Amino acid sequence: MRDFLYSTSPLYPLGGFCFVSLQPTKLRPPPQTAVRGMEVGGSDSNGREFKNAEEMWRDQVGDPSKKTEWYNQGVGYWEVCTASVDGVLGGYGHMNEADIRGSEAFLNTLLSERFPNAGTDSHLVALDCGSGIGRVTKNLLIRYFNEVDLLEPVSHFLETARENLAPENHTFSDMHKATNFFCMPLQEFTPNAGRYDVIWVQWCIGHLTDDDFVTFFKRAKAGLKPGGFIVLKENIARTGFVLDNEDRSITRSDLYYKELFSQCGLHIYKIKDQSGWLKELFAVKMYALMTDLPKRVLRTRSKVQANKPGIIK
Ligand code: SAH
Repeated sequence: MRDFLYSTSPLYPLGGFCFVSLQPTKLRPPPQTAVRGMEVGGSDSNGREFKNAEEMWRDQVGDPSKKTEWYNQGVGYWEVCTASVDGVLGGYGHMNEADIRGSEAFLNTLLSERFPNAGTDSHLVALDCGSGIGRVTKNLLIRYFNEVDLLEPVSHFLETARENLAPENHTFSDMHKATNFFCMPLQEFTPNAGRYDVIWVQWCIGHLTDDDFVTFFKRAKAGLKPGGFIVLKENIARTGFVLDNEDRSITRSDLYYKELFSQCGLHIYKIKDQSGWLKELFAVKMYALMTDLPKRVLRTRSKVQANKPGIIK
């Protein structure tokens, strides 16, 4: 049985601890505000330093057999975890409520701005990625969406999700149901074109390499309905990245994420920090991402242009 205090869960308590404690101040890279997120150095959970993300990825997944091993060990880590809220939260099951509260406030704002008719004349569909036992779907998504699909590579988690979400085990109306249960990893999944209003990705993207991150989100974009959006909720490294050797995942910095989003052609519509979080854990951010430029940016631009002197033709 894994010792949760030392586990490298989605909450990665010791990943953050190691990063802070094992890196002597003078060895830390200087503040690199002008440097791109992935060019900043990072470390692993044994305190090993990497010059930048490229060096780390070359070392970890530099050839096809290493890449296969990376993904096998990532899923293998979860295959031996208990199918419970405490299991998917690495022994921090008591953080479930704060997490759901934060997500619900964020989702409410997004839905009211993006889908003002939700709940009346629209049929909303969501995808819960790396869903584990269906914790996020059961506590949040199923209340807001008419249909939720779940995607999860660990079959015993997905089977628990199926039981948790069986119509006889939940109290929601017939208008809200879990429809599809896909047992596969994100890097192999292609959503049906235009099916989803929201694609929710929480505490699983750290298992994907940068290349697979970008190709997955590009496919996910095609899975969105017009006006739909992606929510990414993740742990955030203070700078660069932290590699977890045990579960083969990486915690990226905010800058690192922003650089990957731009490679995916995704625009940030809103960002929010998770509040009420434990200090011993990595900070958590929620990003709402869209395929088109947020309207307010367009408005600002046209305003600026309208006030610019025009050439008389
Ligand atoms: N999102 C859920 C589960 C978090 S635990 C929640 O917040 O409750 C992390 C999950 O990521 C596990 O269920 C694990 O099986 C899944 N996972 C691991 N590798 C993955 C991959 N390559 N693609 C998708 N999910 C993955």
